[in-house]
Amino acid sequence: MSAPASAAQRDRRAQLQDALARTRDRIAHAAEASGRPRDAVTLIAVTKTYPASDALLLAGLGVRELGENRDQEAAPKAAEVAAAGADVRWHFVGQLQRNKARSVVEYADLVHSVDSVRLAGALAGAAARHRDRPLEVLVQVSIDGDAERGGALAGSADDDRGLERVADEIAGRDALRLAGLMAVAPLGWEPERAFARLAELAAGLRADHPGAGLLSAGMSGDLEAAIAYGATHVRVGSALLGMRSTLR
Ligand SMILES: *Cc1c(COP(=O)(O)O)cnc(C)c1O
Repeated sequence: MSAPASAAQRDRRAQLQDALARTRDRIAHAAEASGRPRDAVTLIAVTKTYPASDALLLAGLGVRELGENRDQEAAPKAAEVAAAGADVRWHFVGQLQRNKARSVVEYADLVHSVDSVRLAGALAGAAARHRDRPLEVLVQVSIDGDAERGGALAGSADDDRGLERVADEIAGRDALRLAGLMAVAPLGWEPERAFARLAELAAGLRADHPGAGLLSAGMSGDLEAAIAYGATHVRVGSALLGMRSTLR
């Protein structure tokens, strides 16, 4: 990081600085509009598809929370950022295969996307062996209850995917800490309707698990609605880093 910055790096830094200022403004306005303190909402910069150099520029601009959705990409990026000495925390926000649990627990501080008892078990086993402190975990919940897509299923008695079952499994594991709930607004749903439903689910989870107070909701397109319904963490990619060429 001490090497002289190239012109291209200075341009990219200025671009990220602008986008960051705009995003922080949006968050501040949304918090204010819903009578919540600005610091009730944490920004996670989702750096997927962008290089470690961007993650480092963001860290230099004061962003401490970074997110990724694929282990193959996240593991080397996190290593590069750590090697450069940046002090950041990594949030794993994507669909996770159980055979990646061992890799993810080594760099992730929070995993947002746990939606089955079996995945919780795999993470607990890996965290117990490869970490010296508990892994913070959010249950990803399906807002529309579509079992074909990701997310635990509210009100379901399914042994593997039922929301209560997943939450209880996490809460019962010493190597994990149940931190809260995460969701993505379903396609075709109005964000307000989606996040209102999510707020009900979050209140239900908190009634059973008072320590599970985090609510990870809202992305570039819908963060205002998520904040109005209680999001404590917004996951912002394209509004900060630019449009991705792929759909993820
Ligand atoms: C990519 C991604 C985001 C960020 O999405 P943008 O629309 O680019 O802000 C947030 N959450 C998850 C789970 C993602 O995969």
